[in-house]
Amino acid sequence: MKRIAVLTSGGDAPGMNAAVRAVVRKAIYEGMEVFGINYGYAGMVAGDIFPLTGRDVGDKISRGGTFLYSARFPEFAEVEGQLAGIEQLKKHGIEGVVVVGGDGSYHGAMRLTEHGFPAVGVPGTIDNDIVGTDYTIGFDTAVTTALDAIDKIRDTSSSHKRTFIVEVMGRSAGDIALWAGIGAGADEILIPEHDFDVNELVASIKHGYKNGKNHNIIVLAEGVMSGSELAKKVKAAGDDSDLRVSTLGHIQRGGTPTARDRVLASWMGARAVELLKAGRGGLAVGIHNEKLVESPILGSAEEGALFSLDNGKIIVNNPHKANLDLFKL
Ligand code: ADP
Repeated sequence: MKRIAVLTSGGDAPGMNAAVRAVVRKAIYEGMEVFGINYGYAGMVAGDIFPLTGRDVGDKISRGGTFLYSARFPEFAEVEGQLAGIEQLKKHGIEGVVVVGGDGSYHGAMRLTEHGFPAVGVPGTIDNDIVGTDYTIGFDTAVTTALDAIDKIRDTSSSHKRTFIVEVMGRSAGDIALWAGIGAGADEILIPEHDFDVNELVASIKHGYKNGKNHNIIVLAEGVMSGSELAKKVKAAGDDSDLRVSTLGHIQRGGTPTARDRVLASWMGARAVELLKAGRGGLAVGIHNEKLVESPILGSAEEGALFSLDNGKIIVNNPHKANLDLFKL
């Protein structure tokens, strides 16, 4: 392959810029031409496609967000949108595309694969909810940000003998809550992958104060319910502590990427280019047991593919499980 493109799509994540930088620099090093696509699939369909040089990605590795912008573009779930996107790519002489994004963006890459257009997925999302990789780009930074915020909440919580529900992001995955909660020494961690009993939670809060604790930190993954909803349930179940809710929100999506996210992004971006250079599309790059791996995007579960199709409907072959094994849950 001689000419490829790169886009970022879905929720932005710290480290996406580092991934794009790696794609651009590696492609140029390999003697390929590389184009950028603004605003994800929306820009692909609109033809917002332009050549990128090595200089264009200077000073980008340390920046959060994505300089290629991101967008939600539901029209790409329709076959007309997908074919219009491929037409634009072909018009620019582009032979393969690197998609940096989350779960929804991977569905788009799967459709490109289905239509025979070579796409390589690079997992960029803070949620760590992508199949085919142990860690996604942006997760480490989001956990570090959440951890820092929880440490600060703990200071004020102890000073006032308060109970705090800290709601963290993660969509339907509990990874951010698990890592930030364990790292911050939270008293309770509630994740969607694991049931909880509100009466047991209230008993544990009471037990904590009775045993001389001067605060209670409950880390709640947004996929379970909202912080205010949980607060109502906890109060209804008899909690009599001074209870506050803190929703960390979008601060978890921004900021300078950690070393881990920058290195992961650089490895994965470079690998995506190597695959396309060898004419290998329809793959998603991941990291498994600290080794770079790639999985077919579309195929059977036995082949290790991420998705299969059942009468046009997308089936996720091995749904993500929030590193539950690691924590022996
Ligand atoms: P993320 O990639 O972070 O999970 P989204 O779920 O918003 O974010 O998906 C990003 C974009 O991927 C969507 O706006 C849409 O353009 C595309 N996309 C999502 N789902 C599909 C699908 N089922 N088929 C094709 N494209 C999709």
